[in-house]
Formats: sequence, structure tokens, C-alpha cells
Amino acid sequence: MVEKVPAAVKMGPYETVYREFDMPQIDDESALIKVEIAGICGSDVKNYGKPIQNVIMGHENVGVVAKAGRKWLARKGVKEGDRILLEHYLPDMTCEWCHQGEYRHCEATDWHTNPDAIRYGYTSADHAPHLWGGFAHYLYAPWNAIVHKVPDNVTAELAGIATPLANGIQWALFEAGIGYGSIVLIQGPGQQGLAQIVACKQAGADCIIITGTSKDAQRLEVAKALGADYTIDVQKEDPLARIKQIVPKGVDVSIDCTAGAGTAAMLLGIAALKRKAGILVIQGNEMPTFPDFPIYKVTQKYAQLKSARGHSYKACELALRQLASHRFPLEKAMTHTFGLKEVDWAIKSVGGKGAEGVIHVSVNPWKDVA
Ligand SMILES: [Zn+2]
Ligand SMILES: [Zn+2]
Repeated sequence: MVEKVPAAVKMGPYETVYREFDMPQIDDESALIKVEIAGICGSDVKNYGKPIQNVIMGHENVGVVAKAGRKWLARKGVKEGDRILLEHYLPDMTCEWCHQGEYRHCEATDWHTNPDAIRYGYTSADHAPHLWGGFAHYLYAPWNAIVHKVPDNVTAELAGIATPLANGIQWALFEAGIGYGSIVLIQGPGQQGLAQIVACKQAGADCIIITGTSKDAQRLEVAKALGADYTIDVQKEDPLARIKQIVPKGVDVSIDCTAGAGTAAMLLGIAALKRKAGILVIQGNEMPTFPDFPIYKVTQKYAQLKSARGHSYKACELALRQLASHRFPLEKAMTHTFGLKEVDWAIKSVGGKGAEGVIHVSVNPWKDVA
């Protein structure tokens, strides 16, 4: 009899069902990953509400190589039993971006432009061999899976935060050029904003200011523990006035980690930038238009816009190295781990409509299903 793999499957907006899939056969060029931790982020909250059907979500995956073909192991440089971080991209490995480790830009992974793109956590389970998401006991890893070996002194739970941390390194360091002496404004103290703090602090930033709302009090405390110099509750004080008081010349970089909280974050970012040549890191995926965008201010300030979108291979490697250093108390940001049967609640919790005190939330698919 074929072994079965339990999975949580999204069937429609805010609807999860449980299904079992046949354990896939693997060949010389493929592997099965036993999922240990699948992290949840803001994009899961957005996707959960969309009409996409029959998808095993879970795109920030950490697991153990359970069974693998000989060529697959040789190609990835790992062995059975190794703990790995899987990027969610499954690229073509032939284009100019793949050769640079920038799999996020590969057409084969871009489901905005390519309906056949396969990505962990986003691809229909109709597509054989079905196991394309981390909310399941096992994942299927073909020849083009992007694998990072997790250092021995990093637990699966901690490795679960590697993806947001890789984004922090990518956006703050590689996109915005944060380094020694930088002054930075981070808007939004969720897992993504907190990861930016770690990257900025490690890189030598002089002054890190982070904003949040009154419900973010606990997150702002964690922000301080991770190295933020100033925290601002935008509902209690005028954030721009406070920023100008802290740094009268303005900030070098403003990074929007409010997960599409609207136009206010971008307007504050532009206003807070220094007089010339600041950098604004934006996330506009959920904001199709921006009426009355003050483009003249961007030009007058000679500002640059950079897009926050995913991470490179190098950013993931550096994130794992950072976690292995145990230099920052990132455990403070790891607040909840749910089982497979709690996926619906876990995603709602990240969206602010579930458990209290949430920062980083993971699913351990073995926690409640033996
Ligand atoms: Zn994510
Ligand atoms: Zn490519």
C-alpha cells in the first residue's frame, strides 16, 4: 500500500480542508523533505483571502532530507538527514538571474507573469506530485529546488525565521545599502520590520527608529531588545515631528514593513528622508494605484525608490550564518507554533484575527498529527 501524506489544503477564501496525498516516488534527481517548520508571513494572510483553490500553502520551509536520489544529493551538496532551508522558488536554472542566485527574478518562478510558475506554497496540488507546500508532512523537491544547509547549532524553529531575516538582509543591506553610520526608519514592527533591525544593527547603523501602533506595544519592546534606538507609537505621537526631533536632518533610508497599511507609510517615509539622496524601500504589491502620489517631493529630494521583494541566495546564506551566531535574541520574536490542524487559526493569528501576542508564527505539521 502507498504511504499517505497528510496536508492542509486551501480550498477557497479562508477555507482549509485536510487531505491525504500519495507519497511521491522519487528518482535520481528528486527528494522528499520531511517538513519540520513552515513559517507564516503577511503574504500568506493576503493569499488566504484570495479565491485560489486546492493549494497546500507554506512557503517558508525548513525540514530534513528524508529520502533523496543520488544525483539530487550530489547537486545540492547535502546528505539524507541534513536539515535544510528551502527557498520557495523553483527556477529554470538557465537564465541570467539564476546564474546570479537571484531566483526571485526568474520568469519560471514569477506567477504574476507566468501562469505555469511553480512555487512552494502557491502552486495548485492538481500539479503532480502534489506536495508543493509546507503545511504537510512532506514536501517534494525536484532537481531545481533551492537548498541551504542549516548550521548544526540552529534549531528548526529558529531556522524558520531565516526567510524574514533574509528579506531583512536583502532589503536593508543589498537594496538600501545600509552600513556603518546609517540612519534608518523602519515602519512596522512585525517579523519583517524586526528582521530589518537585526540586519541594520549588524551592519553598523548609527540610529534605528521603528514605528508601530498602540497594539504593537509588545513588538516595540522586542524591537528595542533587538537593537532599535527609538520606538514611536504613531497613535500616541506625531511620528514625523518625533523623527525630526531625533534626527533633524532626516533619515538616510526609510523601509516600509507595514504590509500595505496604505499610503500613510509611504508619505511618512518620503517626509522623513534627508534633504537629498535618501532611499525609500517600498512594498506596493497590494496597492494597485496611489492617487496624488507626491512625485515632486521624490524628485526634489533626489530620492531613490527601491522595491522590497524577496531575497537572493546570498541573503539566505547570510541569514543562516546570522542565526548561527546567536548574537541577537530572535527567540523573543518567535511567539507561536501551531500544528497541521490549526493552520486556519495560525494564518488568522498572523492577520491579527486569532491568537494574542503574535509576532512570528510557524506551523509544525507533526505537532498534532502523529
Ligand atoms: Zn513569506
Ligand atoms: Zn532562471
